[in-house]
Amino acid sequence: MARVPTMRFKYDGSWWRVKIQRPPARECLEGMADYETRTVYLDPRAVAANGLGIIVHEIAHVVLPHVAEEPVLELERICSAVAKFTAKHAKGCITIGHHKPA
Ligand SMILES: [Zn+2]
Repeated sequence: MARVPTMRFKYDGSWWRVKIQRPPARECLEGMADYETRTVYLDPRAVAANGLGIIVHEIAHVVLPHVAEEPVLELERICSAVAKFTAKHAKGCITIGHHKPA
């Protein structure tokens, strides 16, 4: 069996894992943030089709655990639209990085 690509990140004092793997409990989902095991699952097929949206969605659940599904879906929709727009006006390419606070 192939090894599952896994990374870790620290948030609010706790380590989380990110696995490029279908969510084990609910295989119909494209992604899942499991608070019990502090694991984010990203379905590899969904990531290939809509990676940014799924990443934004699942990490929003990690950082904003009490926020309802609707605003998380809106965040995903808006981030995906802005990323497409930005890439279009940056010769089809946006870099991966994070904002440096002033
Ligand atoms: Zn969700």
